[in-house]
Amino acid sequence: MVALIDLVQYSNEALEVDKFQDYAPNGLQVEGARDVELLVTGVTANLALLEAAVEVGAQAVMVHHGYFWKSEAAPVVGMKRNRLKVLLENNISLLAYHLPLDAHNVWGNNAQLAYRNDWIIRGRLGAGKTPLGFYGELSQSIGVLQFCQNVERTLGRSVQLIDSGVHSEVKRLAWCSGAAQSYIEDAASLGVDLFLSGEISEQTVHIAKEMGIHYVAAGHHATERYGVSCFGEHLTEKFKIRHQFIDIDCPV
Ligand SMILES: [Zn+2]
Repeated sequence: MVALIDLVQYSNEALEVDKFQDYAPNGLQVEGARDVELLVTGVTANLALLEAAVEVGAQAVMVHHGYFWKSEAAPVVGMKRNRLKVLLENNISLLAYHLPLDAHNVWGNNAQLAYRNDWIIRGRLGAGKTPLGFYGELSQSIGVLQFCQNVERTLGRSVQLIDSGVHSEVKRLAWCSGAAQSYIEDAASLGVDLFLSGEISEQTVHIAKEMGIHYVAAGHHATERYGVSCFGEHLTEKFKIRHQFIDIDCPV
């Protein structure tokens, strides 16, 4: 068991929240029970995840996509009211880490994508003081279709390939989880063969073809499952608490 205050303080420091200018508050978003014995992690704090957390008897939920986004309406009504009601009535805390859980060198979504897919990290992709993505390479060149099949096996879902029509082999690549398709031009300027992110926009297709870089949309949810779950595992070792990652499937 760990005191909530210690869990939050440790997580904030470990994930270096002070380094980020984010779109939502990082750290404790909703306060629940004073002590945490079972932590549930998940990608998004949607109602289904909260209900699953109640079912297993969790005292805290940690997610990548929490609440109180800059663009959202403030009133606690409708969907927002229903979600907060489940948390408050069941005395469950909500901790959310957005960009810190993309960027972290070990527990970040992008570091975990590299680890799980055997991609060799060579440097950072992205602007500013705290770039989120990486570039790197495969241990050997493979065909782009084989690359996609390997990713599909790792992530357990199909991916969408936009073939640049230029090289059929992939060796150098860049990646950034979630909705980072706009980084494709930064990736192309690094001279990599392929860029992978979660989502795709209409314009991504044209950029890929005209800049001669393959694009792979591997799923926003699918590319952001591993950061929070592996940080949850780390917390079980650190604080001797129980942890359960609950995957509420999302096709996007
Ligand atoms: Zn995301």
